[in-house]
Amino acid sequence: MPLDANGAFLSFRNVKKSYDQKTLVVKDFNLDVQKGEFITLLGPSGSGKSTVLMMLAGFEGVTSGDIVIAGQSVTRTAPYRRNIGMVFQNYALFPHMTIAENLAYPLRVRKMNKAAVKDRVNEYLRLIEMGSFGGRYPGQLSGGQRQRVALARALIFEPSLILMDEPLGALDKKLREQMQYEITRLHEQLGFTVIYVTHDQTEALTMSSRIAVFNDGVVQQCAAPAQLYERPSNAFVADFIGENN
Ligand code: ADP
Ligand code: MG
Repeated sequence: MPLDANGAFLSFRNVKKSYDQKTLVVKDFNLDVQKGEFITLLGPSGSGKSTVLMMLAGFEGVTSGDIVIAGQSVTRTAPYRRNIGMVFQNYALFPHMTIAENLAYPLRVRKMNKAAVKDRVNEYLRLIEMGSFGGRYPGQLSGGQRQRVALARALIFEPSLILMDEPLGALDKKLREQMQYEITRLHEQLGFTVIYVTHDQTEALTMSSRIAVFNDGVVQQCAAPAQLYERPSNAFVADFIGENN
């Protein structure tokens, strides 16, 4: 695949979004992401984080600007052709399908042959340390196990990008910490590229290679966690990063 001129795998270029043709909820968003990075959009509720992910996934159009993946504009590409995996807070598994069938689903819709599907499903069951759970139904699993299966289902077709929108928001503290560790482990092991959205400073600081601090539709600062912490570029970043919740 051709690389972008600046070497980035994913670029947002002057992306703007208005839902009502009056107010911009995303204002001139620019971001370059290298392959394998774990980038977090961190910002308060209503700052436009989910809107950025929806435009990247293709579920919302951009009002102006361009989104480029692997050197190709995808701004007008249909969602299913962007090869993006997604995990949301309520990314429910299909309750009437077994865990193995849930994992096989994204491969089936992509017309992978049966033998390859079976191998890939077993590989990912082992990867999330649930090798013997393939025959169970979602209702028979704990909340944490269901989360791991949802994560595996987003990864299993080896998308070029993974988007996660507050995936741990509904979990209690202990489970949230376990899943942070699990996501970090899988990221290190598999090397996928992640755009992660959260309003939780601690989560962002622990997991990310870089954090884009977002407020009111604008990136306030984009830097590695230590740099943000030590050298915030303005008062908003300093206050927001300093808050501990
Ligand atoms: P965040 O994910 O940071 O909480 P959002 O991207 O969901 O922020 O929302 C940013 C702004 O856009 C908010 O003011 C929200 O009300 C508005 N918004 C989000 N989605 C829609 C929509 N589908 N239609 C109209 N307004 C929306
Ligand atoms: Mg949101």
